[in-house]
Amino acid sequence: MVSRIIPVDPFDLVVFGGTGDLAQRKILPGLYRRFWAGQMPAEARIIGAARSELDDAGYRAMVRAAIEEHVAPAKREPEQIDAFLEHIRYVAVDARGEGGWKELAALVRPDVIHAFYFSVGPSLFGDLAERIHAHGIAGPHCRIVVEKPFGHDLASAKALNATLAQHFDETQIYRIDHYLGKETVQNLMAVRFGNILFEPLWNAQYVDHIQITVAETVGVGGRGDYYDKSGAMRDMVQNHLMQLLCLIAMEPPHRFDPDAVRDEKLKVIRALDPVEPADLVRGQYGPGDGLAGYLEDAGQDESDTESFIAMKVHVSNWRWKNTPFYLRTGKRLRARKSEIAVVFKDPPHSIFGEQEDRRGNVLVIRLQPNEGMNLRVTIKEPGPGGMRLVEVPLDMSFADALGPEAADIPDAYERLIMDVIRGNQTLFMRGDEVEAAWAWTDPLIASWTGRGDRPKRYDPGGAGPEESAMLLHREGRRWREIKE
Ligand code: NAP
Repeated sequence: MVSRIIPVDPFDLVVFGGTGDLAQRKILPGLYRRFWAGQMPAEARIIGAARSELDDAGYRAMVRAAIEEHVAPAKREPEQIDAFLEHIRYVAVDARGEGGWKELAALVRPDVIHAFYFSVGPSLFGDLAERIHAHGIAGPHCRIVVEKPFGHDLASAKALNATLAQHFDETQIYRIDHYLGKETVQNLMAVRFGNILFEPLWNAQYVDHIQITVAETVGVGGRGDYYDKSGAMRDMVQNHLMQLLCLIAMEPPHRFDPDAVRDEKLKVIRALDPVEPADLVRGQYGPGDGLAGYLEDAGQDESDTESFIAMKVHVSNWRWKNTPFYLRTGKRLRARKSEIAVVFKDPPHSIFGEQEDRRGNVLVIRLQPNEGMNLRVTIKEPGPGGMRLVEVPLDMSFADALGPEAADIPDAYERLIMDVIRGNQTLFMRGDEVEAAWAWTDPLIASWTGRGDRPKRYDPGGAGPEESAMLLHREGRRWREIKE
C-alpha cells in the first residue's frame, strides 16, 4: 500500500498540562509518531505549558524520556527524536495566575493555526479560556481542545459550555472523546455507509440486538478519589459508550461533514428511552486474586459508586423499535476488551430443519485489543455426515487485505490532534450532544440514588455481577464472552 500522508499546515500547539500524565503518555508520543510519519511541517511548534519551572532544555529532556517510554523501538531513531525536539518549547504558566502569560502571548504566532490543548483538570478549563482571551492570544485561527470529563452533570456541562462560548465560537471548540479517534470506529461508518450490503439489514427487522462492551482488567487505583465521585455511568457510559451507540444507531448523514454527522448522533441521544430499574445492574468489585477491592482502591470505608454497569437501552424511533441495545462496562474484569457486536436475527425459515436459535450472523467491531472487524456467518461443517451447520468468522484482516502498513494504526490521540490542526470537527462532540447525553444520564443516576440502590459485589477476573448475565438470559440471549 502506498503511504498517503500529507503534511498538515504549519501550527503552534500549546499543551496546557504538558508535564502531566496524559501529555507524557499520549499527546507528546503521539505527536512524535506523526512527525516520524512525515506529517508535521518544518514550521510546526509544540509548546508545553504548566506551572513547573522548566526551560526548553529541561522540557525537551522530559519529552525525550516520554518518547523513549511510550514509542515502539522501531520508530525511535535518535536523529529523528533530536529533530522532533527542535519543535518543542516550554513556558511556565499558571492557569490561575498571571505568571507566564505574557511570554506565552509573545511566543504564539497569530498568523498560523494555533491550538490550545487543555490537558489539565476540568476545574481549570474556564480559567484557561478566560486568560487566553484576556491576553489576546485567541486569533481567528485559534482552536481549543477540551479533555474529558466535560461536566459532572447537565448543570455543570451547561455552565462549562456557557463559559467556553463567552470566548470561543463552537467551531473552535474540540471536545475530545478518544473513542471516536479509533480506527475501527471510523471504519464502522465506512462499513455502514460505504457498502450497500449492511445498511438494508441495519434495523429492527433484521437485527436481533446489539451489544456494546468496554471491559477493563485494571481497578480504580491511582484515580480512586476522582472515580468515587464519578462511577462507571459518568466515567464511561455518558461519553464513550454513548458515542459508540450513536454511531451504530444513527441514520445515514447526508454527507460526511462534521455537523451532518453530529446532527444524526444528537437525534439518537434524544431518542433514548429512560432505562427501567429492572433493566440496569450496577456492581462494585470486591477483593480477590491477591488484589484489593474497590473500597480499598478508592480509599473509602463505604461507597455506593459503581465500578461496573450493565443496562438495556431502547432507541425509540422507526429504525430500532423494540431492538435492545445492551451496554456494559466495568473494571477488574476478565480481559481488556472493547467491542460492538451487531447480532442479526435468524433466517425466517430454516430449510435445514434446525430448530434452535442460532443467531449465526454477528458483525463484531473490535476497538481493543487488535482493532478490526469480524463477520460471523453460518456455513456447512466440512466433511461427510450430512448438512451440519457451523458458524465461522469471515476474515476481514486489514493487514492481509491492505498490506502490513495497514496494521500500523495511529493511536486515537494522534489522529484527533491532526484533525484539530486540519480544522475537522467530525470526530469531536458538539456542545448540544454533550448536554443531551447528560440530560439522559442525570435522571437515571437520580433514580437509583433515590431508590437507595446499592451496587452488587462481584469477584475480580470475571464478567461482573451475575445479575448482568440475567439481563440477557431472561430474554433468551447471552453476552459475548469477555476474553481477548
Ligand atoms: P495530571 O497528570 O494531574 O496533570 C495535570 C497537569 O496540569 C500537569 O501538567 C500540571 O503541571 C498542570 N497544572 C496543574 N495545575 C495547573 C495550573 N494552575 N496552571 C497550569 N498548569 C497546571 O493529569 P492528567 O492525567 O494528565 O489529566 C489531564 C486531563 O486529561 C484531565 O482533564 C483528565 O481528566 C484528562 N484525561 C486524562 C487521562 C489520562 O489517561 N491521564 C485520560 C482521559 C482524560 P504543573 O503541576 O507543573 O502545573
